[in-house]
Amino acid sequence: MTETRFHRHFLLFIMIFAYACLLLPTLGCAQSGGDVSPTQAAPQPESMAQAASAARTAQYQPEINITCPADVLNGQAFVLKVNSPHLERIDLSWTGKQLSITATPAAGGGMEAIALLPVDLNSKPGLKPLDLTIVDNGRKIQENLTIRVSEKRYPRQELKVEPKFVQLSKPDLERSRAESKRVKAVLAKCSPERYWQLPFVRPVPGSVSSLFGVARVFNGEPRSAHKGLDLRGATGTPIVACAAGRVVLADNLFFSGNVVYLDHGLGVFTMYCHMSEIKVKEGDFVNAGDLLGLVGATGRVTGPHLHLSATVLGTSVDPQVLLDLNPNDIPPYAAGNINVN
Ligand SMILES: [Zn+2]
Repeated sequence: MTETRFHRHFLLFIMIFAYACLLLPTLGCAQSGGDVSPTQAAPQPESMAQAASAARTAQYQPEINITCPADVLNGQAFVLKVNSPHLERIDLSWTGKQLSITATPAAGGGMEAIALLPVDLNSKPGLKPLDLTIVDNGRKIQENLTIRVSEKRYPRQELKVEPKFVQLSKPDLERSRAESKRVKAVLAKCSPERYWQLPFVRPVPGSVSSLFGVARVFNGEPRSAHKGLDLRGATGTPIVACAAGRVVLADNLFFSGNVVYLDHGLGVFTMYCHMSEIKVKEGDFVNAGDLLGLVGATGRVTGPHLHLSATVLGTSVDPQVLLDLNPNDIPPYAAGNINVN
């Protein structure tokens, strides 16, 4: 510390001290302030205002840590973590989606709020705002982050399936439309509590046979991109839950075959498709690693496998990222200013 800076800090300290003495004459300030020189103990009015402002700031020192990647990729989810000793809640807004999270006790002490946030597969590269309202110790703090979306390119894949899954008959078309409405309604209701933990548990031991995001061509006709991760497994292989959650759909659907949907809370869902047998029912609560069903070849498939999907706030994201993500690996977000309201 340079001498000038030392003097400035010392003077500021004296001013705060003197102001406190003026405000609180009954707290024995006179005795402890005995070694303050008369010139320093008699601040001018403008110095008093500065001291008052410094004293106000000193009353509230938010110790808020925000952890979030500065760069993300289309088709992937990322973790936002906010913690502080007195965190109450965060309200966030990201790419037109809103989420409110009530803080819960953190393992290392204090309180935390953790969110998974999605980047749409078709999201264009560029800077996107992530706006946070942090309620901490009864105060509202506005924090506006900027996240860079960089482009990830996904490959193309040609597949051969039964013609009825490409050229749908009228009843099949009606059925699939009704089912997609039903699925949309299921995904629209999200539990306000977080049951999920990262990284997700691998639901079957088999290796990857088809990646998320692949642009698919069925029997020569382009269809929507592959919104899941295909994992190898023989018929009858047990499929377990990636994370704790509630079974919100367990049924046979046209494209997915026998499928289980889990609601993990805070907008995070996983789906397990093409099962030969479902071993849970709607309303059940499962823990990470609990049996959900068996690998099969029901619905639109080329053979037995598990198609694992994940959606976050209604957007499909790459499940592989959730199998790999460890929130402790993400460095704290560095930019942004904290404004106390
Ligand atoms: Zn698949």
